[in-house]
Amino acid sequence: MPRLINTAELVPLVADLIIDACCNINDDNVTALKESLNKEESPYGKDALAMIIENICVAKKEKIAVCQDTGSCVIFMEIGQEVSWQGEGLVAAINEGVRRGYTAGFLRKSIVRDPLDRINTGDNTPAVLHTEITGGSEVKITVLPKGGGSENMGAFTTLSPSAGKEGIQDFVLKTMLCAGGKPCPPVILGIGLGGTMDYCAFLAKKALIRPLAERNKNPFYAEFEQTLLDALNNLGIGPLGMGGRISALAVHIEQYPCHITALPVALCFQCHAARYKSIVI
Ligand code: SF4
Repeated sequence: MPRLINTAELVPLVADLIIDACCNINDDNVTALKESLNKEESPYGKDALAMIIENICVAKKEKIAVCQDTGSCVIFMEIGQEVSWQGEGLVAAINEGVRRGYTAGFLRKSIVRDPLDRINTGDNTPAVLHTEITGGSEVKITVLPKGGGSENMGAFTTLSPSAGKEGIQDFVLKTMLCAGGKPCPPVILGIGLGGTMDYCAFLAKKALIRPLAERNKNPFYAEFEQTLLDALNNLGIGPLGMGGRISALAVHIEQYPCHITALPVALCFQCHAARYKSIVI
């Protein structure tokens, strides 16, 4: 028997997740920022980190948004294949949750209905919804309000397969140097490797919702994550681009098989306002 879920149940869940994500940064991110304060050598960088941490604490206490840019609402759903939906359409229910969350939370509405006519939709819909089918009868929903400053620095390239790790590192460092302070560092860098162009970009985004302490399960890629993190933190960009040691808190790689002719690489930047929340129903 499939598990029946009415899509109406999702509406308040999505609304609450959005408000919580925008006002309440996850503990692992706060811990990483506090640890960075001890490692940062630049006085300007230290000041910037201290302000970032204080801002996060005030937002949590006062239940206000960590940043005025409450982003595009990116939503990941992992849907167990034994789930069957009732009620209005799934996408419509998700967007109703987004509408209610951004309205009730007094969160900035940043979405325009068309890339060229630039009319604001007024309620931050539509969400960018990614769905994956998993085993079982549970549904995991993760909301990731994604700020424009960091999102705009994302990049994609298809390298020659012979470029290998060196080619990837070169692309990562050039992109980060070009981005400088624009993605509001210290960043978390999501890297997608492999797949097709679209799937590679999806992997880079999905890499941002991995807990900070979690390394890639493959030791080869776990070591590469650390190599890239060290290299990013030697660029001198520093917190908020003020100069210093701590330009990135983490590098997360998600890899996937790909075509023999290609080495697709996608980069997705997350700013210090690294907001996401999940629930399993
Ligand atoms: S990049 Fe992040 S911290 Fe910077 S303005 Fe955008 S949401 Fe805020």
